[in-house]
Amino acid sequence: MSIYLDYNASAPIDPRVVDFMMDIYRNNIGNADSRTHDFGDNARMIVENARKQVARLLFIPSEDIFFTSGATESNNIAFQGLKEYAQKTGKKHIVTTTIEHKAVLETAKHMERNGFKIDFVSPDRSGRIQADEVLSLINDNTLLVSVMHVNNETGIIQPVNEISDMLEGQDVFFHVDATQSCGKLVDELKNLRYDMLSFSSHKLYGPQGIGALVLRRKNYKLPPIKPIMFGGQQERGISPGTVPVALAAGFGKACELALNEYKKDERDNLEVRDMLIDMLESSGIRYKINGDIKQCISSTMNIQLEGVSSEALMLSSKEYCGISNGSACTSNNYSPSYVLLAMGISEDDIDQSIRLSWGRNVNVDELKYNFEKLLRVAKGLV
Ligand code: PMP
Repeated sequence: MSIYLDYNASAPIDPRVVDFMMDIYRNNIGNADSRTHDFGDNARMIVENARKQVARLLFIPSEDIFFTSGATESNNIAFQGLKEYAQKTGKKHIVTTTIEHKAVLETAKHMERNGFKIDFVSPDRSGRIQADEVLSLINDNTLLVSVMHVNNETGIIQPVNEISDMLEGQDVFFHVDATQSCGKLVDELKNLRYDMLSFSSHKLYGPQGIGALVLRRKNYKLPPIKPIMFGGQQERGISPGTVPVALAAGFGKACELALNEYKKDERDNLEVRDMLIDMLESSGIRYKINGDIKQCISSTMNIQLEGVSSEALMLSSKEYCGISNGSACTSNNYSPSYVLLAMGISEDDIDQSIRLSWGRNVNVDELKYNFEKLLRVAKGLV
């Protein structure tokens, strides 16, 4: 059987989360916003308990958590929700990076078409953007700085702490897309100062279809986000529509597990990474890691196998490993990865690059067996 090595696209839900959710699906009915009966009160209790569990993972008050359908919606709200404030203040300049997920990039481009000025900072060859460069672009009209914590294609950790320190005291909102770091870089996120943070449950072993936008208070005031969708007062109007009770519960449970287990997860992930590198070393295939491995999260590796077309490899090793050569949102078109391009990697090298991402509950023996097979296929393609 093929082994799944595409956790950054979506991590398999933890069986303990499934059990928890099944119990809720079976035993609870109702809408968390119904005020006229106990069923609604009970659903609301479940959602509010989940909100506390999510907040605990970030060491923040639960009022700062707004449930959304996932990071895409959260990113859209973080950007587009500021439009009214921008109109009022005339601050219409945004700084972000060229390696953001499309949920940020496309939203930024949409705003650019609507009168905003956007500066996109590119990374260096190591895959990291420079905090100084971000700072040098800020002016009196800057409304928002948005930088992802961990890149989904390379796993490279971005200097969000440094940027946050540099922004201290400036009249600029700082948004972090923490979709690939939440539940993993728990200590880093605990110590990070930000105004807004986005993430999805399914990247931290929770169910698909739910996520959060975190809005932090500054001088007791929330960022001046206005709804971008209308139709209800759920999530204080920020994300209207019925809150999916069981999904929220599963998300909360996944956050609780992440908080208890992130250190063990990281140790396990590093062991897997060492094993994969050892296997690459002894395979006889020439390879390069895209980006600086010292700045990389323990569960992702973007590698170039010299002379091996990634498309051919993915097709011919499908029965062994489920891998990708970019983010899931772009993998149905064949244009080279914009993230690797932004790092200055040539198109030829990008054509030979694959992304491996793994995590909790991966079967190491199976992985070893299947990755060995993949390497054998790769050797045949050189
Ligand atoms: N941001 C990043 C960094 C991501 O990796 C992803 C998912 N690939 C998203 C945002 C979007 O998340 P979702 O599809 O769950 O909305």
